[in-house]
Amino acid sequence: MAITGIDTELAKSYLERGQLVAIPTETVYGLAGNALDQQAVLSIFEVKNRPSFDPLIVHIDSFEKLEGVVADMQEQARLLAEAFWPGPLTLLLPKNPDIPDLVTSGLDTVAVRVPNHPLTLALLGSLDFPLAAPSANPFGYISPTQAKHVETQLGDKIPYILDGGEAGVGIESTIIGFPEGMPLVYRLGGLAIEEIEKVIGPVQYLPHSTSNPQAPGMLKSHYAPRKPFQLQEKVDQATLSSDAPTGYLLFDKYLDEVPIEYQRVLSPEGNLLQAAHNLFSYLRELDAMDVQEIRAEMVPDTGLGRAINDRLRRAAAH
Ligand code: AMP
Ligand code: MG
Repeated sequence: MAITGIDTELAKSYLERGQLVAIPTETVYGLAGNALDQQAVLSIFEVKNRPSFDPLIVHIDSFEKLEGVVADMQEQARLLAEAFWPGPLTLLLPKNPDIPDLVTSGLDTVAVRVPNHPLTLALLGSLDFPLAAPSANPFGYISPTQAKHVETQLGDKIPYILDGGEAGVGIESTIIGFPEGMPLVYRLGGLAIEEIEKVIGPVQYLPHSTSNPQAPGMLKSHYAPRKPFQLQEKVDQATLSSDAPTGYLLFDKYLDEVPIEYQRVLSPEGNLLQAAHNLFSYLRELDAMDVQEIRAEMVPDTGLGRAINDRLRRAAAH
């Protein structure tokens, strides 16, 4: 069983021995291993039951360490890194040959970011290698935003969980790449596209698909609860389920007709940052409830709302 604690020295000693440690970030908890150690990287895929065609994100603690991870840096990428690191933005850049192909699923680009969490930054600063870390959940399930989420699902497979409290942002990083020199968002996430556009101008967004050879890992069905999950534009009285006990994931208002314990409201104030922060833990709570299905409604499709709706759609595609 994993030990949960705040001992970065202990976390370091496991990582130096090629073992895996769950790490807190501002987005979601990561399942981390030495990115330069093939064996460690292989065990990340095994522990998560993740297909090898779904590449990992490499984590570093400073801009200076980019050199060991990427082969080349565009001007736009540099501007974004300066503006948003540490933070929920992942850059896709040409890969340094030192990064094993396993990390990038054979692609010639590597995904890299500086996470914004004091414990993990301290840990990364003490290591002489970068950490490869996907989200610390079994492949396809809801991402973990608390140490106890990791404990429940991967606790018997890893030695240590570094407990950094609740993930502040609560939703995965925004991923941006520069194919043919043009900025392209591969995944909506914790940094709104509007913020990116303030720095580098208009960017395109690549919608996900079930099999997109250009963007391995952008699987449509993802982030899914185990219970049947239905997504609607809006849940109101007319669309309530009459038969089976149902749990509801709502944006800003409770339903009068449904017992309160079957409802989770993402943000009573209608705040999208708060909604993102609560999304995955509320989905887990609903999944653990004594209900037969979950119904969710979309949130306003602007700012972080776009990333939230993206996750809801993927959960519904399961
Ligand atoms: P996770 O950390 O679990 O959110 O997964 C990392 C995600 O990053 C993958 O599922 C991919 O969508 C994306 N990713 C990582 N590396 C690349 C890459 N080289 N090209 C495109 N997408 C990538
Ligand atoms: Mg993931």
